[in-house]
Amino acid sequence: MGTQEKAYQKCINPQCGSEFDARQSFFKCPDCGDLLDVRYNWDAIEIPNQLSDFAKRWTTRDNRLDFSGVWRFRELLDFCPDEYKVSVGEGQTLLQQACGLAQELGMNPKRLFLQYEGMNPSGSFKDNGMTAAFSHARMVGAVASACASTGNTSASMALYAHSCGIKATIFIGEGKIAFGKLSQAMDYGGHTIQIAGDFDDCMRQVQDVCTELNIYLVNSLNPFRLEGQKTIMLRIIEGLGWEVPDWIVVPGGNLGNSSSFGKAFAELKELGLIDRVPRLAVINAAGANTLTELVNDKGLRWNDSHVDQQIIDAYYGNLDATGYRPDTIASAIEISRPVNLKKVLRALDVCDGVVLDVPDEEILDAKAQIGKYGLGCEPASAATIAGLKHLLANGTVDKDARVACVLTGHLLKDPNATVNYHSKMGREFSNPPIQVENDLQKIIALMK
Ligand SMILES: *Cc1c(COP(=O)(O)O)cnc(C)c1O
Ligand SMILES: [Zn+2]
Repeated sequence: MGTQEKAYQKCINPQCGSEFDARQSFFKCPDCGDLLDVRYNWDAIEIPNQLSDFAKRWTTRDNRLDFSGVWRFRELLDFCPDEYKVSVGEGQTLLQQACGLAQELGMNPKRLFLQYEGMNPSGSFKDNGMTAAFSHARMVGAVASACASTGNTSASMALYAHSCGIKATIFIGEGKIAFGKLSQAMDYGGHTIQIAGDFDDCMRQVQDVCTELNIYLVNSLNPFRLEGQKTIMLRIIEGLGWEVPDWIVVPGGNLGNSSSFGKAFAELKELGLIDRVPRLAVINAAGANTLTELVNDKGLRWNDSHVDQQIIDAYYGNLDATGYRPDTIASAIEISRPVNLKKVLRALDVCDGVVLDVPDEEILDAKAQIGKYGLGCEPASAATIAGLKHLLANGTVDKDARVACVLTGHLLKDPNATVNYHSKMGREFSNPPIQVENDLQKIIALMK
């Protein structure tokens, strides 16, 4: 691509490597079907000399782009002119020091941080990506958008589509979506189509529908969406006084978030804006652990962009043959064919990353432990702390390491999971309501 262009798209397949203009819209390489990256000609962009220069934008918060937790880092995702940028105030999120929780985990109390992405306008980190995807959608003149969703993508898409006058159609699987999320999509005016199948089925259908009808796809296959999600890492660095943590811990579903984190650190390092890259831990639910099995058991690696496709094909062939369906309480990561698989392998390579899976009981226990300290999250988000416990126990993460866990979605997204845990499951951190007669003395007796 011409060096005067700030941004362009490039296929990640080394045998292909096709490049496309940023003003074009595909969700897969038209030449080979592999994933696309957004790339930059950094020389054509005025990048601040140091990350702390971005702090100046706090003084001009009346400018909506400077207020946005995504667009105040806009030089690092400079793929579209400001006039197209959509913002509803995403990314006003908090890096909270979690002393009490750290102590419970046996960590140095000053070293654990929770990046609370539930504080976004639609209640999940997805808004970081959607603001970028819809800015690109406006730039390419899209009139209709669609996604397959386990819930949060659809809530976020419906919100952003509405805010810029683009039609939104959502594909969901049967009975596979938490009510908090479905209620948002319906209220924000999205058209919901429920397919008799699971998320992976929806993901396949929506790609064909979008190709057939020329609709703008906002799943994390969309490389522009991932650009917005890079800023979660910038805000963590910002929250640490512009220092890089030792570890980032994130749940893994379709693996867009983890992929974007790896891309963020690779670019920051290349630009000389950070001097070291943190390590990355991606946590699967045991009932949806494709990444864990492929990496830990089958030895799948990025391998300098030469990913062994045969390992992937054999694994998916076996899922088909056995009729495997993922199953976990953490519905946001109930995905067995993660579309960003190859990109996350790259992120693991860049960040010397690890992956592991955790059972639902441990996810729910961790969720209650997090909630106890006042930052409620949905089950998928709690996979981070559940995973961190294992990484501390086996010595992968040192108790003095500075760790930032990304809490991806708000507690209220899935109240059923929370109420069931506390009232029915009788687990270590359950906090059930106590029943009592409508009698003052008996009530007082209970409270002593
Ligand atoms: C989408 C989502 C995830 C999974 O993120 P991926 O980028 O698909 O790996 C995790 N947690 C929550 C709350 C989500 O909404
Ligand atoms: Zn290609």
